[in-house]
Amino acid sequence: MDTPASTLARYKMFIGGEWVEAASREHFESDNPFTGKPWALIPKGGAQDADRAVRAAHKAFTSGDWPKLNPSKRGALLRKLGDLVVEKSKFLAEVEVRDNGKLYAEMSAQTAYMAQWYYYYGGLADKIEGHVIPTDKPEMLNYTRYEPLGVIAAITPWNSPLLLTAWKLAPALAAGNTVVFKPSEFTSASVLELMKLIEQAGIPPGVVNVVTGFGADVGMPLVEHPLVSKVAFTGSDRTGTLIYQTAARGMKRVSMELGGKSPNIVFDDAHMENAVKGVVSGIFAATGQTCIAGSRLLVQESVHDAFVEKLVAFAKTAKMGNPMSLDTQVGPVTNPPQYQKILDYIDIARGEGAKPVLGGGKATRPECGGGWFVEPTIFTGVRNSMRIAQEEVFGPVLAVIPFRDEEEAVAIGNDVVYGLAAGVWTQSMRRSLMMAERLQAGTVWVNTYRAVSYLSPFGGYKRSGLGRESGQEMIKDYMQVKSVWISTATEVPNPFILR
Ligand code: NAD
Repeated sequence: MDTPASTLARYKMFIGGEWVEAASREHFESDNPFTGKPWALIPKGGAQDADRAVRAAHKAFTSGDWPKLNPSKRGALLRKLGDLVVEKSKFLAEVEVRDNGKLYAEMSAQTAYMAQWYYYYGGLADKIEGHVIPTDKPEMLNYTRYEPLGVIAAITPWNSPLLLTAWKLAPALAAGNTVVFKPSEFTSASVLELMKLIEQAGIPPGVVNVVTGFGADVGMPLVEHPLVSKVAFTGSDRTGTLIYQTAARGMKRVSMELGGKSPNIVFDDAHMENAVKGVVSGIFAATGQTCIAGSRLLVQESVHDAFVEKLVAFAKTAKMGNPMSLDTQVGPVTNPPQYQKILDYIDIARGEGAKPVLGGGKATRPECGGGWFVEPTIFTGVRNSMRIAQEEVFGPVLAVIPFRDEEEAVAIGNDVVYGLAAGVWTQSMRRSLMMAERLQAGTVWVNTYRAVSYLSPFGGYKRSGLGRESGQEMIKDYMQVKSVWISTATEVPNPFILR
């Protein structure tokens, strides 16, 4: 039976400090992945709403309270926002689970942890210093200033809505910009809830705005808008390419956090039990719906069969079910198109001759309710040239590929268009250092997987992206440098000669 629209939570967009409907007055439904039923109505924004939000952000950037705030005061507002995120972390986690299907056990810790981005960049806001340049010109003072870019359009995917929002919002505001967010049409609710905390923190109206809707309707008008200075994008490399091309026409800056096909590489000298856990966390945590999923398992031939046996035995025990239950380990897939895509890739892998040694289809266990569940799936007999080894599935599907030695592990590990992350399991220090150096990936984990922090740069090599998020350096990606020359000479010299 359909859920009556009157019982659904009804959201509004946040533009210029006001809660507003879309210009079209239309809504679309947001589904709960565990029940497979709608739970909320989200305004269906369009180009007119995108324009309104960009104009509000531009106004807030150029006039009013925000440009008058010094960096220390901006920092204080961000730290206040961090406090509110901690205070509301359980509630934010519940909304995220309802909208996205992620595990409450993971989200309740993650929503509290994400406050660290607001604290960290709040602290960094007043530590971005220009330089006095030791100039070669006589009677001249030359110094640099770091200034904000203007309006940032931030476009995010559905797999980690609030965390990825924090990764963009905290440095963008610390640098003095204003922002328009376009969350994924599958998971807009938690970001709209966050806007209530933006209001409470006292961040001036128009500094942060959210326009909800579909990519072509809202995302593209934001990318094309002449008053947008930078597009900060996280999503698929297909959409990223389109956005990059469009942004180039307006000479806008971009940062791109895109997909991956990361190798998790197990050598014969690895601590096997730890490696099994690391491989499982790489592919079955978050139901494999993470950009950093270790979706290719490279195992040294000498331990291949024994390792796969241990891995299957452990992965088989994963408890599926309601993502709100604290003992659930594998939750649902977030949305029907993604569910279908994963099932299609399972068929493709079979068609390519790969052999499923675990799972291999829909999960129909009673505890999976009416949701979109896929059995944790492991394929052996995979060659790296197969589609299942080259293309991002974004689900709980692991492709196992044997290798002979270090040289071959590096060659296979790097033989994909992506370069987001890699895992290495070995007890050899020499091998750890050598692999960390030779793997073409923005992050390499040795004897661990899935560690991220506000302190450490994150981003992709090759088609996995442009630029980095987190850490100190990247705040300058939200700024531009100005060189100021001041003459102390009493007389202007020959005006026809470059000085
Ligand atoms: P997607 O590219 O389909 O959508 C991402 C966002 O772009 C959504 O908000 C969507 O509405 C918007 N969009 C879609 N078409 C658009 C268009 N023509 N113009 C402007 N905006 C448009 O990606 P998704 O399916 O939501 O997310 C999954 C992808 O995100 C995976 O590839 C995953 O690897 C990637 N991802 C990367 C990282 C990272 O940090 N590298 C993190 C999380 C997810």
